[in-house]
Amino acid sequence: MTATKRVALLGSTGSIGTQTLDVIRQHPEKFGVEVLTAQNNCDLLIQQALEFIPNAVVIGNEANYSKVKEALASVPIKVFAGQKAIAQVVEMETIDVVLTALVGYSGLIPTVHAIRAGKQIALANKETLVVAGELITALAKQHGVNIYPIDSEHSAIFQCLVGEFHNPIEKIILTASGGPFLGKDRAYLESVTREQALKHPNWDMGAKITIDSASMMNKGLEVIEAKWLFGLKIEQIEVVVHPQSIVHSLVQFEDGSIKAQLGLPDMRIPIQFALSYPERLKSNFERFNFTNYPQLTFEQPDLKTFRNLQLAYDALAAGGNAPCVLNAANEIAVDAFLNKQLGFLEMSDLIEETLTRSDFIARPQLEDYIETDRKAREFTKNLLKSTN
Ligand code: MG
Repeated sequence: MTATKRVALLGSTGSIGTQTLDVIRQHPEKFGVEVLTAQNNCDLLIQQALEFIPNAVVIGNEANYSKVKEALASVPIKVFAGQKAIAQVVEMETIDVVLTALVGYSGLIPTVHAIRAGKQIALANKETLVVAGELITALAKQHGVNIYPIDSEHSAIFQCLVGEFHNPIEKIILTASGGPFLGKDRAYLESVTREQALKHPNWDMGAKITIDSASMMNKGLEVIEAKWLFGLKIEQIEVVVHPQSIVHSLVQFEDGSIKAQLGLPDMRIPIQFALSYPERLKSNFERFNFTNYPQLTFEQPDLKTFRNLQLAYDALAAGGNAPCVLNAANEIAVDAFLNKQLGFLEMSDLIEETLTRSDFIARPQLEDYIETDRKAREFTKNLLKSTN
């Protein structure tokens, strides 16, 4: 029997975080919880800590420190607070794998620390690779760290590649559900609300990624993520709309053969595989039944209506710090849409304007990414103010 893998779970109270704990709960002989972190939800963090008794917990929002500290006073758990503590706690000697389920740009710095400390990475936070894919993948290589994807599409590709690592990929095909607005035109999208956009047909996820799915930015971010995870050229990455979300993505090899990974939409499968690789562990997750899905359909994405996907391809083609700008502008735009300060289609306008008017850096270092992110956010916010 192998020793248990000790997991640091960054973002334990979110959708991926709680599902990760569900996986760990079912395999206590395989996995243990070493660290839990949350940004604001201290009640759930406390409850999780009392169940799993990790070595340490971090509450991102420092205002909640004393509440967490007091609630855990009777158990041997170290309690820290603040963003710096999140980035530092991943370096703890006893951690084997760091699972990053933080939202957006906030995942970058803790992931850099974890890689430098030689920890394996299970990556749910795609924005880390969108913002600084070149730097992160080079750093991982340098420190002998593997990055195991949790994003369902990338997990599908990873699963298709098992046993094929020496066979070149001709291309990959990322599937997209199309979200709640599939088939709608620009006139319709003009007036869609936050509530409509938050209703995803197949996946139950956090707010940020659900809006990204509705706007197709999620697929754009995933194209960039795939480039770095699998070392592909832009022309090797295709997107096809598959509204049933059963085929999670596909790989085409040089002999023309295509492999796909299928299953019901359940994030616990990619989470578990990222933690258990190369093993597959028994699960009681609901099984896919073909008779319930007599039709699996595929169609081309509509890049004219859903401009965000095209903007992401453009940013990836530009390279350098352009994807970092794209991500920062998108985070501000999504936030503004969720706060009803911005219409659905205006998100793309804001992102495009920020991309066009930001300074280009061809070979950014970590400091350049941090500065690019800060400036792009500021620029997008000012743009937002001037239009409101
Ligand atoms: Mg995905």
